[in-house]
Amino acid sequence: MFEINIVKKVLIHIRTSIKIIALFAIAAIMISGLVAFAYKPIYSVTFQGQHIGYSENKSELQKKINEYMETGEGEYIAFVDIPELPQYELCMLKKGIVTNDDEIFEKVKATGVPYYEYYAVTLDGEEKYYVPTAEVAEQAIQQLKDKNSTNKDKLGFIKKYLTELKEFTDVETIVSELYVKPVEKKVVAISTAMNVGGPKIDLGISLTTPVSGIISSRFGGRASGNHTGLDIATSTGTPISAAAGGVVTYSGTRGTYGKLIIISHGNGIETYYAHCNALYAEVGQTVAAGEVIAEVGSTGKSTGPHLHLEIRVNGVAQNPQNYLY
Ligand SMILES: [Zn+2]
Repeated sequence: MFEINIVKKVLIHIRTSIKIIALFAIAAIMISGLVAFAYKPIYSVTFQGQHIGYSENKSELQKKINEYMETGEGEYIAFVDIPELPQYELCMLKKGIVTNDDEIFEKVKATGVPYYEYYAVTLDGEEKYYVPTAEVAEQAIQQLKDKNSTNKDKLGFIKKYLTELKEFTDVETIVSELYVKPVEKKVVAISTAMNVGGPKIDLGISLTTPVSGIISSRFGGRASGNHTGLDIATSTGTPISAAAGGVVTYSGTRGTYGKLIIISHGNGIETYYAHCNALYAEVGQTVAAGEVIAEVGSTGKSTGPHLHLEIRVNGVAQNPQNYLY
């Protein structure tokens, strides 16, 4: 019985202790509730070294600022740089103090520097036009490629991050302004038709000797293939003169001919001067009979300095020795 009494006393003591702890806990909760009702946490806000007000909801205000930095307001903004963020200091102030979260936000926002994101269409690396998206830039470049614009391989685009927004140009304008029509290369089709052993054709014009020298190869068939002209060998640099007056229709390098001049004398009559060392007459130039148009050389398929002279009528090579030499 004695032992049972001790156990009972201990139990009673524990119960009393629990009651007291519970009472304290309830009191603590009530007091803190009263405090929370009468007071709320308020933050004193400092920005750029100045006190600019009080925030009643610091996390909401900071969230608004963060969102503004991420997206900004308006189109094409990549982000907004706010060089300095506000500083918050907790202070317990009585309810009724004026808070100005919106005003604080506007002040912070006013210091933001927006960075715009857009694209530049480039030509040879130089920025030419600005467009809002990469898709627009690609579209313009693709259209120029489709049109085979000669500058198509020099086109590109780059992403821009700038505080300044440039004026955008539409695809149609970019394409029409950057388009460069490919130059059609005039191919001088030189026929291999020859009037070998045929009748001598009356040219209706007289010819003068373009150059003096030694006949090194005659017109007609030969082992290495048909020879469409007459070869007159002489030293490099000897002036070559036009066999008759006419208009230069070719002046440039052409395959086995090397440096070549072609003069049209009208009525389908042409003279060719091949393997030249230098060319003096330009395409479209009118030359008189005897006028120096080039100098003797050994360009193209040639084994030594000579003039390869051709006389053609409607594309058919005639034997120059029917008229000269
Ligand atoms: Zn020849």
